[in-house]
Amino acid sequence: MNPYEFLTRQAGVGDVRDLVQQLGAWHDSMVLHQRTVRQLGPEEACDESCAHAVGRDLWAQAKKRLGPVAESLTFLRRSVERTNQES
Ligand SMILES: [Zn+2]
Repeated sequence: MNPYEFLTRQAGVGDVRDLVQQLGAWHDSMVLHQRTVRQLGPEEACDESCAHAVGRDLWAQAKKRLGPVAESLTFLRRSVERTNQES
């Protein structure tokens, strides 16, 4: 089940099925990536195309397309905020 499916039922949000698909795939890869980061540390595990980088891109898209509803994407928001603080 895609945990982002609920976004397609939000009022005032257009057709975001493609975004929901991307978020669902990203969520799984982020969960795996976080495990790798815990084992190896961000220096080893992260690069410019890791799940954090994809997350930043998705967060920008989500804010643009979902407006205030994007704030409910806490997992995405926290992952992105944490990387911003680190850099
Ligand atoms: Zn990363």
